[in-house]
Amino acid sequence: MSGASGLMTPERCLIRDTARDFTFNEVLPVANRLDPEQGDIPDALRAQLADMGYFGIRIAEEYGGSGLGCFEYCLVAEQLARGWMSVASIIARGNGMLIADLVTPEQKRDILPRVARGEYLCAAALSEPDTGSDLASISCRAELRGGEWVITGNKYWCTFADGADYLVLFARTAPPPDPTRRHLGISAFIVDKPRGALPPNTQGAPIPKIGYFGWKTWELAFDGLRVPASAQIGEPGKAFYALTKGLDEARAHTAARSIGLAQGALEDATAYAQQRVQFGQPISEFQVTRFKLAKMATEIEAARQLLYFVCDRIDAGERCDREAAMVKYFASEMAERVTSEALQILGGAGYTKLHAVERYWRDARLTKIFEGTSEIQLRIISDSLLGKPKA
Ligand SMILES: Cc1cc2nc3c(=O)[nH]c(=O)nc-3n(C[C@H](O)[C@H](O)[C@H](O)COP(=O)(O)OP(=O)(O)OC[C@H]3O[C@@H](n4cnc5c(N)ncnc54)[C@H](O)[C@@H]3O)c2cc1C
Repeated sequence: MSGASGLMTPERCLIRDTARDFTFNEVLPVANRLDPEQGDIPDALRAQLADMGYFGIRIAEEYGGSGLGCFEYCLVAEQLARGWMSVASIIARGNGMLIADLVTPEQKRDILPRVARGEYLCAAALSEPDTGSDLASISCRAELRGGEWVITGNKYWCTFADGADYLVLFARTAPPPDPTRRHLGISAFIVDKPRGALPPNTQGAPIPKIGYFGWKTWELAFDGLRVPASAQIGEPGKAFYALTKGLDEARAHTAARSIGLAQGALEDATAYAQQRVQFGQPISEFQVTRFKLAKMATEIEAARQLLYFVCDRIDAGERCDREAAMVKYFASEMAERVTSEALQILGGAGYTKLHAVERYWRDARLTKIFEGTSEIQLRIISDSLLGKPKA
């Protein structure tokens, strides 16, 4: 793995290599055992992630975090995804994501140390049955009644709704002022809940997804869920801005996960090709296999270097929505191609649950869909080139 980039300081190489060792020792064996049976990330592994400080990479030191940048966060996420994508994702349920910019200084002192210790992890309740790419169309409602917020409506795709300590829920608290400003009137809420259960007055069922195992993804129905007035965070009706502010980092994190999956597939396919003998020689001697591996490695490195560039811009406080969309798009499309080629190199063995490559392939497929689909990334990039289309 390249460490030659000027951005890869000795400290960053150490962070990356430590995460890689942790992944090989602690994550991969658990993933290989539990993913085939669709098991959840065990509490013990969650505790180990907390001990490593991975839930607090992005949290300031004064709140008990490491105070590191998006760069370091993505280095760790790439390595964890090389083991199990859900583990690379669960660290985003700490790190203060979505809430850090919305809570008051007092709430920060209360909440962020617990987040950094992995004791207060979130599930994101944004998407709804009729609200996916178009998040401004959120229709789940919250009404202030008798000093409490009463939440009514449906959410869909809420990953970790059971295992989390709270939901970050986006709901409509006011109608949009006009059809061109549908993003206004949406507010954010912290919905506390017991770990291992759904909130009260909430019905839910896991969605039968085809991958991203390690945790469940839920459809939820709220029928008069009551939360205290203090559960509403940030400026009322303006939560959409907080959402868009965090998108660059979320896209970088998804690119890192994609790269980790592709790297895992490349390494596994390389090892397999060197030991699998056909026609009297290892299949790694066939030029077609060698060239496949060479192309896979090249694509991964191109994505990784673009990711480093984007992370560096984010950490410098520069706006880079176009570049973040580019790396999310490029890395996730790359991950699908590379993991598919890896599966091909394994032949029939690749199409079994006996090798991790099928997991990398299934999980890579998702990276093109969540955190903004590939088509939405292309919209952002093309709008920046051409301006928004008139229609
Ligand atoms: C396994 C999984 C876990 C998830 N976890 C969470 C979670 O924890 N919390 C959460 O809130 N959400 C979560 N999501 C939801 C995810 O963010 C959405 O699936 C994603 O945003 C796409 O929305 P959609 O599925 O409704 O697709 P749609 O928005 O209906 O899109 C369908 C198709 O139309 C295309 N399309 C839509 N609009 C446009 C456009 N303007 N231009 C061009 N093409 C367009 C899309 O690219 C796509 O190909 C999860 C999803 C999955 C699959």
